[in-house]
Amino acid sequence: MTPIQALQKYFGYNEFRQSQEAIINTVLNKQDVMVLMPTGGGKSLCYQLPAVLLNGLTIVISPLIALMKDQVDALNISGIPAAYLNSSQSPDEQKDIAIQLQNNQLRLLYVAPERLFSPDNRMMAFLKTLNVVQFAIDEAHCISSWGHDFRPEYLMLAGLKTAFPGVPVIALTATADKLTQKDILEKLNLHEPSVFVSSFNRANITYRVIPRRKGFDQLLDFLEERKEESGIIYCLSRKSTEALAADLKEEGYAVEAYHAGLNNEVKAKNQEAFLRDDVKIIVATIAFGMGINKSNVRYVVHMDLPKNIEGYYQETGRAGRDGLPSDAMLLYSPGDAIKLRGFAMVENNAEQSAIMLKKLDDMVNYCQLHACRRQYLMNYFDEDFPDHCGSCDFCLSEFTKFDGTLIAQKALSAVARLKERFGNTYVIDFLRGSKSEKIWADHKALKTYGAGADISKADWQRYLRELTGLGFLQQADENGYPTLKLTQKSEAILKGEQKVELIAHHTIEEQGHETPTY
Ligand code: ADP
Ligand code: ZN
Repeated sequence: MTPIQALQKYFGYNEFRQSQEAIINTVLNKQDVMVLMPTGGGKSLCYQLPAVLLNGLTIVISPLIALMKDQVDALNISGIPAAYLNSSQSPDEQKDIAIQLQNNQLRLLYVAPERLFSPDNRMMAFLKTLNVVQFAIDEAHCISSWGHDFRPEYLMLAGLKTAFPGVPVIALTATADKLTQKDILEKLNLHEPSVFVSSFNRANITYRVIPRRKGFDQLLDFLEERKEESGIIYCLSRKSTEALAADLKEEGYAVEAYHAGLNNEVKAKNQEAFLRDDVKIIVATIAFGMGINKSNVRYVVHMDLPKNIEGYYQETGRAGRDGLPSDAMLLYSPGDAIKLRGFAMVENNAEQSAIMLKKLDDMVNYCQLHACRRQYLMNYFDEDFPDHCGSCDFCLSEFTKFDGTLIAQKALSAVARLKERFGNTYVIDFLRGSKSEKIWADHKALKTYGAGADISKADWQRYLRELTGLGFLQQADENGYPTLKLTQKSEAILKGEQKVELIAHHTIEEQGHETPTY
């Protein structure tokens, strides 16, 4: 059977999506692969179809025991013999599966990593006696402590390639920036892996960031128009999920809370009710969602600032898996960043702390952006994207733009002359020709001192933010001091090779720009 025949026969689809076929062929050639595909992109097929075609057993490693059953049920319905092994099963059930495995009756076996590498090594020894032809590692970013969902038990997977050198490994994730990607490849010891990166753009999701004032009222306004729709509302703390769920219940919404502190029964019940549409809204911490396969989630709201873009993008990605228009709304308050900075400091690990803080800065920059949000998100994942998507709050609002090249040149050369050692406030004071003691003593002789005196402080703040958003400047943190730095894109501006469009700010509110009413 060819891959396309198997696709039609077992999965009922006529054609492959994006890179599915190339990925499948690579696995069939027994090569290691890493797949980065957005949520809903069709990752499962990339190992399920080879599992059907390869004559042997595919081991699927997945972190969430709760989801294994759904996947296995779906496969069995499609006529593909599959099973899972986990602690929820009785010894008899487990024995029964072991027998099916010994008799080569199964094509796929789902297990959690800790099960695979039990201390007595029983499972690995057992697998050696079977004809294992493929390992699929789902949610592979869990192996990286730089990712946003580190699971220490994933580190055990490093031994897989040594134990089964000839068996191809396919690692899959919907979330990994460059750093995490590299980390996954290294930690898994993949052998000359092919890496497939699909476009991460989710064209049907509209992104909005709104300054948070009275968060609950803003949320009610948003929900008012979406009374019949399903949505997920993320909060930072467990306590606030429960409080918010209670408040929304009082407003008449069918809503439940979900967080890691609830007992398993309650979690399963709430999740089930949401999947069945008995509950329309889940108010959750980030503990909710991984692998949730609900296609008609129409919106995702973040009441608090997420810790990084990867997590945020993954969470918003749970909206609109069915391809229909959906919304992502984030309520942003600068105070959140201060709180999160505290959390980001990892004790005795300066390197880790620096990475977490950088990721938080990128998240804050996203919120303060005066440019297309989708472009920023795509660029974050190293994907090129035009500067106008037409479906984020920025692109949807009507701004007058003007040629801001000169302003940009002044700002960038001020940053350069100050040797990239100062933050926004100092750079602005310098540009405006402040007579403050330090500037006067140290820097008044530099060129561009006072070159921007005709522009107000507030406008300079906005321009610097905008230039940061456009990638011509970057906000860095140097030993706890915020500093402005140049980027790779700065040089073209300074040399006059590139023009910059800025927003005419008289139309804009103090805190972020006017967002369209929804
Ligand atoms: P992911 O794991 O990447 O989030 P899934 O594997 O759950 O995504 O796939 C998302 C949806 O897309 C599923 O409903 C799946 O059946 C469907 N799908 C996958 N591949 C195809 C295809 N080639 N044609 C049509 N639908 C597909
Ligand atoms: Zn846009």
